[in-house]
Amino acid sequence: MADCIFCSIANHDIPTDPIYEDELIIAFNDLEPQAPVHFLVVPKKHIESIDAATEDDSELISHIMLTIPKLAAEQGLENGYRIVINTGDDGGQTVKHLHFHILGKRKMTWPPG
Ligand code: 5GP
Ligand code: ZN
Repeated sequence: MADCIFCSIANHDIPTDPIYEDELIIAFNDLEPQAPVHFLVVPKKHIESIDAATEDDSELISHIMLTIPKLAAEQGLENGYRIVINTGDDGGQTVKHLHFHILGKRKMTWPPG
């Protein structure tokens, strides 16, 4: 989608250094990390948010969720981590292309801010 930063990254229109990539998804470090390890897992398909996902995206979402633990292990998050999907304005979503935050290497607090 034009003017979407994560589509541009997924298409390699913007040079990026992915920590993982396959035909469906790309993962890269967050520009403004909120933890010692903070990366994003992004579907290459433009989906505005988890609200916009449909049954057609089941395999894609499943693939993301099953890939995250592998990437977390590769990033040394053996002590745990947090997966965050900010959704909509109240959820704090700033980039309107579905993405999964993975944060680790520090103790997370609850409730989140
Ligand atoms: P949201 O606030 O939508 O849940 O998360 C968007 C995230 O994308 C933020 O953590 C922000 O730092 C990150 N981000 C925004 N633009 C870029 C970019 O161009 N490159 C990278 N690596 N991260 C970005
Ligand atoms: Zn997009």
